[in-house]
Amino acid sequence: MKEQTYKQLEREFNKKVAELKKNCKHKNLTPWSEEWWAMGHPTGFKVRACKRCREIVKRRVACMECGKITEDYINGDGQRRAIGEYLCKDCDKKAAKKMKLIKCEKCNNKSYVRIRGKETLKYYCMWCEKETKHKIIENKDD
Ligand SMILES: [Zn+2]
Ligand SMILES: [Zn+2]
Ligand SMILES: [Zn+2]
Repeated sequence: MKEQTYKQLEREFNKKVAELKKNCKHKNLTPWSEEWWAMGHPTGFKVRACKRCREIVKRRVACMECGKITEDYINGDGQRRAIGEYLCKDCDKKAAKKMKLIKCEKCNNKSYVRIRGKETLKYYCMWCEKETKHKIIENKDD
């Protein structure tokens, strides 16, 4: 029989684990426990894994707006909200309503802006705003 290298064994192991996870019904879960991405670095998530195959079946996090613990969290998309900002569905909806895609008066580039007042009269994107030293948003009720 040919001698197996570490790499070959690792590949075999990974393949078998993947098969196990695929065919497992995940009936027996661990209690909720802290998730770590490295020693001493919690991700902020709590997870439940399958005791048989170690697949993470459930993840939950506290909404960063209202603090509600939820499994239906929505990550920011990097446009309306920062990536890594996890909100519950309700707070995500509210945050989306506050944001509007607005065209910059100066360069015509569109970007998402947090709406504070009722109506936006004039908007300069962050780059033009730096140049012009204009207020980003001038509201009617300001
Ligand atoms: Zn399982
Ligand atoms: Zn929330
Ligand atoms: Zn601009």
